[in-house]
Amino acid sequence: MKKSFVFKSSQCTGCRACELACSMHHRKIFDPNVSSIHINKVEDGFEIVINNMKSGQRLACDLCGNEGKEKQCVKYCSPLFKKELEKYFDIMVGGNTEKDGGESI
Ligand code: SF4
Ligand code: SF4
Repeated sequence: MKKSFVFKSSQCTGCRACELACSMHHRKIFDPNVSSIHINKVEDGFEIVINNMKSGQRLACDLCGNEGKEKQCVKYCSPLFKKELEKYFDIMVGGNTEKDGGESI
């Protein structure tokens, strides 16, 4: 299994609401250090990294299975970007990440 999936976007606003929503989902706290999703600034936008496996403090993404299938990171994402973010999960779960514009590491 791939450790994480990385997508780059110029549409992500970098607000990091997804990180807080994810830590709240996992631990009922606001702590981006434990989030499965994290956002890095890159030259032409932002890099969205989704951890598929636990890594240090970071917990594995469980697709918010206990939240009625509503991904909390998508729920609180910018209205301008949430469809795109949801698409990344579809690619991560069932698609060819490299072919569809992401990267598996
Ligand atoms: S779908 Fe994954 S990355 Fe998004 S909030 Fe849920 S556990 Fe975190
Ligand atoms: S919540 Fe959405 S727009 Fe904000 S940083 Fe996360 S992926 Fe980007």
